[in-house]
Amino acid sequence: GANTNQGQPEKATIPGIKRIIAVGSGKGGVGKSTVAANLAATLSQQGLKVGLCDCDLYGPSVAHMFGTDENPRANEKEEIIPIEVDGIKLMSMGFLLSDGAPVIVRGPIATRYTQQFLRNVAWGELDVLILDLPPGTGDIQLTIVQTIALDGAVIVTTPQEVALIDARKAVSMFDKVNVPILGLIENMAYFQCPSDNQQYHIFGKGGGVREAEKLNVPLLAQIPITMPTREGGDAGKPVSIAAPEDAAAQAFASVTEQL
Ligand code: ADP
Repeated sequence: GANTNQGQPEKATIPGIKRIIAVGSGKGGVGKSTVAANLAATLSQQGLKVGLCDCDLYGPSVAHMFGTDENPRANEKEEIIPIEVDGIKLMSMGFLLSDGAPVIVRGPIATRYTQQFLRNVAWGELDVLILDLPPGTGDIQLTIVQTIALDGAVIVTTPQEVALIDARKAVSMFDKVNVPILGLIENMAYFQCPSDNQQYHIFGKGGGVREAEKLNVPLLAQIPITMPTREGGDAGKPVSIAAPEDAAAQAFASVTEQL
């Protein structure tokens, strides 16, 4: 969709990319990268040209989630060429680190590096680019959402109060820079026990529904905790590709219909 950004500095569009959607969270460990990877995988399986960019300088995981340790090369324009796995173009700031060396850049340098990075990837033609943002609402997140003309953002949370409080901060960060919130995704919403078929709300019940109502944004899905989701993450094959019949994979598919 159009992004007018009234009263805001001009944001950069990336030529050739039709839609850019950010996946954010207020807190780490809620499954943001898992959601980003599975949304990308699902959209790609629906026939769209998809890119996934891991913007987490300090703990990048996209490469791991797609089972690649390939290093990207540069083209003649000195742009970085994304790595392609299962038809999805992957880019990760982690690709640029030598052998997992710790990243010690902070503050303004991290900000400048992030901007440079985002402008220097040879994406080619994409229907949608998913940006896996770092968790939280600090400088780097703000830089990204201010620099790139985002079409929308989804916020991942668990049903726990501590996660919801931070999700609220993420929503207000996007509001501040006029990025439309496409909705909330409640991850790890419940575990359905195979032996009694009951749903166990391990991290609490109803938090996502209440929060979405309070913030006046759609609740896009309640994703269950499933073994194949965790296994897919560890094995480098997102559950949406490895086990599309899984309940979490089905929930991811229902999200993409609403984007
Ligand atoms: P974040 O990006 O928010 O830090 P991750 O996506 O890395 O979180 O997820 C943290 C861990 O939880 C990973 O091991 C991942 O496989 C697992 N996980 C995330 N969502 C689910 C889920 N719905 N069911 C099972 N495991 C999950």
